[in-house]
Amino acid sequence: MSRLVYAIIATALCGCSATSGSTSTADAVAQDDTLVHAVSTPVFDADSAYSHVARQVAFGPRVPGSDANRLCREYLVGEFKAYGADTVLTQSFEATAWDGKRLPLVNIMASYNPDAAKRIVIAAHYDTRPWADNEADPQSRFKPIDGANDGASGVGVIMELARLMGMQSPRVGVDLLLVDGEDYGWSEEIADIPVKDSDETWCLGSRYWAKNMPYKSAVRPAYGVVLDMVGGTDARFHREILSDYFARDIVDKLWAAAARAGASDRFVNQPGSSVNDDHIPLNQAGIPTVDVIEYRQGGFSPTWHTHADNLANIDPATLGAVGQAICELIYNE
Ligand SMILES: [Zn+2]
Repeated sequence: MSRLVYAIIATALCGCSATSGSTSTADAVAQDDTLVHAVSTPVFDADSAYSHVARQVAFGPRVPGSDANRLCREYLVGEFKAYGADTVLTQSFEATAWDGKRLPLVNIMASYNPDAAKRIVIAAHYDTRPWADNEADPQSRFKPIDGANDGASGVGVIMELARLMGMQSPRVGVDLLLVDGEDYGWSEEIADIPVKDSDETWCLGSRYWAKNMPYKSAVRPAYGVVLDMVGGTDARFHREILSDYFARDIVDKLWAAAARAGASDRFVNQPGSSVNDDHIPLNQAGIPTVDVIEYRQGGFSPTWHTHADNLANIDPATLGAVGQAICELIYNE
């Protein structure tokens, strides 16, 4: 993902009443806290999620079109099937990147309860960035990153959700969406020629999915959650500004679920930054979608788009906190 969405912020936030006081947000979370648990929520296994992160990293950088990307995808599809997803489909297409390359991209979607009257979508990107924008040394800046956090962490949480849903079916339909081509976008650190509509050079897989939703029935997801950089040591998650603009009720609902899951220390009920990520195309397609993404003062984790985004900087406790919050969300629908 990239840091800011200038065009989207301008159109979304300019002159509208998107923001309201932090008091009303706190009240909303407090009210949701009082809800009685109607179903049992399974226990999310952080070590299982971590093992899925490690397996992805072991393939090498999962740059679009690479062997590692393909091998990782085959592994993920195989795991979804082994975990008992009702359907597992792949969506293959080509996209032209900002540098003129034609990228062969493949999205993966595993579905549970395909005939349910209500469904939700949980998404992450499984591709990794071909560059390390934030390395000072040009030699290492143009080498691909491991993407243990930026890519593999969200997928790791989703794979553990797949295992749990295979054992205990939720009452709603759930689509686990792994998109390709999220992190191939333009940045000035890797190319100092400006690119037209540079925001749109990111999130190629989710853009395609949002325009070509592979559903047989008329039932579309009522809402979505994107997981990105959810495995960093001591990571905290704030209310991403565009999520609050497009999907404020869902942010409230997820933050309340996180509180019930005992993860209030991780899910900080304060605004973070605004991010260009896979939630944007879903929101633009009419699916209110929240981006769960690490936020620190000044931006993302210091490992972001560097070669320090590796397995050594993944903390199972972070994966566990996020995973348990999402379980609490899914199993209370
Ligand atoms: Zn990234």
